[in-house]
Amino acid sequence: MMRILALMLSVAALAAAPLTTAAQQKPILLHDAALVDGTGAQVRPHVDITMRKGTIESVRPAFTKKSPKNVDIVDCTGKVVIPGLISAHSHLGVLLNNAETSSNAYTPENVTATLNQFERYGVTTIVSLGVNRDLVYDLRDQQRAGKIGGATLLTAGRGIGVPNGAPGMNLAQDQIYRPATPDEARKDVDEMAGHHVDLIKLWLDSGHGKIPSMDPAIYTAVIDEAHKHHLKVAAHVYTLADAKSLVNANVDIFAHSVRDQTVDSAFTQSLLDRKTWYIPTLALDEAFYLYAASPEVMQSQFFQQAAGPQLLAKLQAPDYAEKNLSSEQTEQAKKDHAIAMQNLKTLRDAGVSIGFGTDSGAVPGRIPGYSEHRELEDLVAAGLTPLQAITLATGENGRLLREINPKLSVGLIQTDYSADLIILSADPLLDVRNTRHIEAVYHHGVLVPNPPPQN
Ligand SMILES: [Zn+2]
Repeated sequence: MMRILALMLSVAALAAAPLTTAAQQKPILLHDAALVDGTGAQVRPHVDITMRKGTIESVRPAFTKKSPKNVDIVDCTGKVVIPGLISAHSHLGVLLNNAETSSNAYTPENVTATLNQFERYGVTTIVSLGVNRDLVYDLRDQQRAGKIGGATLLTAGRGIGVPNGAPGMNLAQDQIYRPATPDEARKDVDEMAGHHVDLIKLWLDSGHGKIPSMDPAIYTAVIDEAHKHHLKVAAHVYTLADAKSLVNANVDIFAHSVRDQTVDSAFTQSLLDRKTWYIPTLALDEAFYLYAASPEVMQSQFFQQAAGPQLLAKLQAPDYAEKNLSSEQTEQAKKDHAIAMQNLKTLRDAGVSIGFGTDSGAVPGRIPGYSEHRELEDLVAAGLTPLQAITLATGENGRLLREINPKLSVGLIQTDYSADLIILSADPLLDVRNTRHIEAVYHHGVLVPNPPPQN
């Protein structure tokens, strides 16, 4: 009872907190910035960006004589402005304190806190790609009504899993559908369509043959039914064979890398022919061993604030590194990560549409807000330039989201796009880790409080 009362009180507190909206404030002019606009174009020096009522009103050469009137001017001399990052594969309400998986974690407070953490770290839009309780629809409505803040939320609702199979997380009954027949699967898709999900998610993974995989008749039905509702389908995948079957079944988005082997040219060509998206989630496999293998990444305040004290204590426990590095899971994850890096480079060089996501929030160690900056670093390690990596996380991912919802204009700093951007105090094109030098985040044209520590 006390618990329920406490929950009600805190929900009331959330709802009562007045959020600033861009409509209530003067236009803001970011003056004399170096601009990376998300299109992939090289940096443009000496630019003025005006934000009005939540959108980008203009992008112009910096004024040199009279300063414009009736705007709030923010001096950005020496700063670099990039679009807010977008994660097309994240999760909400799976972890408690980022530190443990719990079927009790899907609460309004926890979900809202995670959305706020993403936003503070410059991730201004996320897709919560499955295992959401139906509460997500209400939170999305509240957010659209300006009652709660945080990263703009798109959702795949519960998603379609397998009885006794994937996803194998510790979930509440009402966090996932596990249909046993194609008809049941169609009904589940219809129910999510009725809630206006942004897309449909399904899991195709046999866990190296240890768990039952989804019957092809079921994923074929899911994709067909989703397409009847004009919904795109994103699939969790691991093997090349499964990925090929899914392409043949008309899947729209791969939510992970192919990791059991290197991709072949027939697969690459099929993605090009069908315009299938591929989200590599490189930081995912790496997160299994990163903190044991490279404990120095945990030293920054930027990392520590995102991780939070409970996870940090786990990762810094005296026996953690040794146990982790000698585990079979780590050995497998290292192999998977190496293949994922290689496949990403192959597919990108071939011209496949590459999205950006991390699977942050799904497992302890995949840290909302931090993982996205780590993913950028991984993309560069895989052979992309920092500009190419940032373009995937912004303009390209915005293009993916627009295919999901044509009303969305995110990922670019251009007229009429949502005024979601990050002001950096260091140049991310020189070193992509400089995306962590966050001076300020604006989301819908409003300054986000408490940016993370820069080091
Ligand atoms: Zn996921």
